[in-house]
Amino acid sequence: RRKAAEARAHEPAVTTDGIAIEVVANLGSAADARAAVAAGAEGCGLLRTEFLFLDRAQPPGEAEQRAAYQAIADALGPRPLIVRTLDIGADKPAPWLALAAEENPALGLRGIRLQLARRDLLETQLRALLGVRTEGALSIMLPMVADRAELSAVRALLVRLADDAGVALPALGIMVETPAAALTAASLAEDAAFFSIGSNDLSQYALARDRTNPAVAAGLDGLHPAVLRLIDETVRGGAIHGRWTGVCGGLASVPEAVPVLLGLGVTELSVPPAAVAEIKALVRGLDMGRCRGAARAALIAPDADTVRALSRPLMEDAA
Ligand code: PEP
Ligand code: MG
Repeated sequence: RRKAAEARAHEPAVTTDGIAIEVVANLGSAADARAAVAAGAEGCGLLRTEFLFLDRAQPPGEAEQRAAYQAIADALGPRPLIVRTLDIGADKPAPWLALAAEENPALGLRGIRLQLARRDLLETQLRALLGVRTEGALSIMLPMVADRAELSAVRALLVRLADDAGVALPALGIMVETPAAALTAASLAEDAAFFSIGSNDLSQYALARDRTNPAVAAGLDGLHPAVLRLIDETVRGGAIHGRWTGVCGGLASVPEAVPVLLGLGVTELSVPPAAVAEIKALVRGLDMGRCRGAARAALIAPDADTVRALSRPLMEDAA
């Protein structure tokens, strides 16, 4: 089966009833970008830019960042590239960033919060991104948004920097990783061009389980109906303003999750390069009508195991 999936890795993923789902890759380096293209990815749905910032004495400057992003854009050619701005905090300590130790790093100064506290870092990264020349579309995505004011502040800065640089404004989207963002998606969608569900963090915050704590992390299940309801709220909030919703957390490459995610209205799955062929093959075997039925039942299911039982027959029929 793996061989059959790989043989069609470079073809689009279209359901049996003709709905195309974008299957893109999560990247953390230029080598990943080359691997993703070879694996059949239709673009990059999440470039984690932390790789440039960790394990060093000083943060990268604008020119160094621009060169690194340009290399990734070049590897992707005409395919779309979504770059996530720096997502660090006390959970991923960077030696050059003298952050105070925190008792609860997951609830602390991380993601967009740190960027707004250190606008110099954000501004340098945005300027570097505005200097990248791409064949395909380049979009920018913000991590850990919980308030519309965070998005508006970055939007205003990006508008000014694009104007200064004399370049077109890139699309600005957000990761939906906090229950607050999911529940206010209809409002955020006025300012956000797209949503991408960060299911790793969204599950962590919805289920109150620290993803870094081995004593509780094994119970982090993105198929918990509470997480699915947040995803449903996000998709519907976005749709009011014509915004698409993707998933870039680990849930996007869980075969049992794919029928439910599609049924909820997710139209883009961003997965590790090695999972692209398998996820495309799965999508090709799914019927959207049945996925919608399973998703509706999943939203009122009592637990994740019940959701899995709803989804498994669809997954097995697709194989
Ligand atoms: C997520 O939280 O699901 C996500 C994709 O971001 P990261 O895993 O980098 O926190
Ligand atoms: Mg995250």
